[in-house]
Amino acid sequence: MIGAGPGDPGLLTRKAERILGLADVVFYDALVDRSILSLVKPGAELIPVGKRGGKPSPKQKEINKLLIQKARAGKVVARLKGGDPFVLGRGAEEALALVRRGVKIELVPGVTSAIAAPTYAGIPLTHRDFASSFSVITGQEDPAKTESGIDWKALASGKGTLVFLMGMANLDKITGNLTRAGLSPRTPVGIVENGTYPFQRTVIGDLQDISRRARKTGIKPPAVIIVGEVVRLREKMNWFEKKPLFGKKIVITRAREQASYLSELLQESGAWTLEFPTIEILGPRQCTSLDRAIGKISSFDWLVLTSPNGVRGLIGRMLDLDRDLRDLKGVKIAVIGPATRDELGWWGIKAEVMPARYYSKELPRAMGGKNIRGQRILLARSEQADPDLNRALRAAGAVVTEAICYRTARVKKVDPEVKKMVACGDFDGITFTSSSTVNNFMGIMGKPRAQRLLKGKLVAAIGEVTARALRENQVQAGIVARRPTIPDLAEAIIKHY
Ligand code: SAH
Repeated sequence: MIGAGPGDPGLLTRKAERILGLADVVFYDALVDRSILSLVKPGAELIPVGKRGGKPSPKQKEINKLLIQKARAGKVVARLKGGDPFVLGRGAEEALALVRRGVKIELVPGVTSAIAAPTYAGIPLTHRDFASSFSVITGQEDPAKTESGIDWKALASGKGTLVFLMGMANLDKITGNLTRAGLSPRTPVGIVENGTYPFQRTVIGDLQDISRRARKTGIKPPAVIIVGEVVRLREKMNWFEKKPLFGKKIVITRAREQASYLSELLQESGAWTLEFPTIEILGPRQCTSLDRAIGKISSFDWLVLTSPNGVRGLIGRMLDLDRDLRDLKGVKIAVIGPATRDELGWWGIKAEVMPARYYSKELPRAMGGKNIRGQRILLARSEQADPDLNRALRAAGAVVTEAICYRTARVKKVDPEVKKMVACGDFDGITFTSSSTVNNFMGIMGKPRAQRLLKGKLVAAIGEVTARALRENQVQAGIVARRPTIPDLAEAIIKHY
C-alpha cells in the first residue's frame, strides 16, 4: 500500500516510484494524478477503484476481494492511495483485511494533503508564536456513528491548528460546532482546493464568514480546511500561487520523448502543461544510407549533426552494428545547437564546432570557411531535413554525403482526453518547436478549427522557421524565442506573462 502524495507528482517518494515500476497490478484512487500512473511498467494492469464525479465506486469489500485475488495469483500488487494511506481515507481497514487473509503487506507512507495543501498555500501548520500542535480531523464522520467521535470542546481550545479533510459538504456544521464550543468567530480560516496542483485555489476568511466566501468563489472538494492563527502567515509566505505562470495552461506539441524538458521548465514557473504530442520520432524507413556511411565512418573529415535525434540515430545504429565509438576518432564534428552538443556530450564525445547562430549559412563559416573545400563531410540528418544546409556546404566546395538517421511522423494515437481539452480551447498558450509540429497540429485538429482555436491564445514559436510555418497556416506567432532553443522559448513565455 503506497501513498501517492497530494497531487504534484514531484511529491511522490522515491520508494513509491521504484515499487510502481515493479508492480504487475496497480489499484488506484480517484485522487491519484495521471502522470503518477505513467510510472507503471509497460503491460502492468491498471485498476481504478475510486469514487469519481458521482459515479458509484466499488464497495470496499469488492476492492478487498480483488486485491486478495490478485495477490494470491502471485502478482506484485500496488495499492495507490491519495496522500498518505493512513490519514483518513480508510487505508488501515484495507490493510487489515489483507493481513487477515494472510497476504503479506508492505506500507509506504506518502505526503498527506493535510500538510501539503496548506504548505502550497503558504500556511505553515505550526509556528512557535501561533501554534505548537495540529490536529487532522475528518469533516465527514461515519453517518452510522451514534455519538460524535470528535471532541469539539478540546479542538476549540484555540491552541493548535485544525485541519479538516472531506469537510466541504459540512463546512457550516464545522464552523458552527467550533464557535459553539468556544472558538472566537474571528479565528482565521483558509480553504485550499486542489492543493499542490497548478489549478490550486485558496480562499481566506474567518469562522464567521468563510462559508459565505466559499459559496461565493464556488470552491469545491477536494479541499482542506485550515483553522487557526497560522492562516495569517499566508500573507507573507504565499509562494506557489505567485509563480509567473501560475494558473496558465500551456499545450506542448513536441514528441513525447522530447516534451518533458520544456514541460519541466514551464512547470517550475507554475504552469499547468498539457502534453499533446503531434509528432513521433522513428527510425529511418531504410538504413541503407546510414549503414553505408557507418561502414566507412573513419574516412570522413567532418561529421555534421543537426539535432539530438540525429545523434541518437547515428550512435544507436553504430552500436546496433557492433561498431566502436572510437571509430569516430579523427573525424571532426560540427553540431547545430546546444541540445545537439549536449546529447553528444552525454556519449562522451566533444564537438569541434558549434556556430553561434543556427542558420545553414553559418555552419560552413564556423567550420573554417574556405578550408572545407574538398573535405569529405557526412551530414547525418532526418528524412525530412531542409536541403539548405547541404547546399551551403556544397557551395563552400565540400563533398557531402547524407545519411538518414531518423524521421518524424504524425502521431498515430492522440490521447482522447487531452485532445478534448485542446479542442474546447481549454488552454492559455501553445508551443510549437518545429514546422512539423505546426503542420501536424493543423492536420490533427483540422485547419479551420485549429485556426479558430489559436485565436486569442498565446502562440509561441521556437524560431523563425516555425513562425513561418505558422504564417503559412494563417496563424501569427505571438512570441518567437530569441534563439531557437528550449530554454529561450520557456524564457520568452515567462517574460510574456
Ligand atoms: N489519505 C489522504 C486523504 C484522504 S481523504 C491524504 O493523506 O491526503 C480525501 C480528502 O483529502 C479530500 O476530501 C480532501 O479533503 C483531501 N485532499 C486530498 N487531496 C487533496 C488536494 N490535492 N487538495 C486539497 N485536499 C485534498
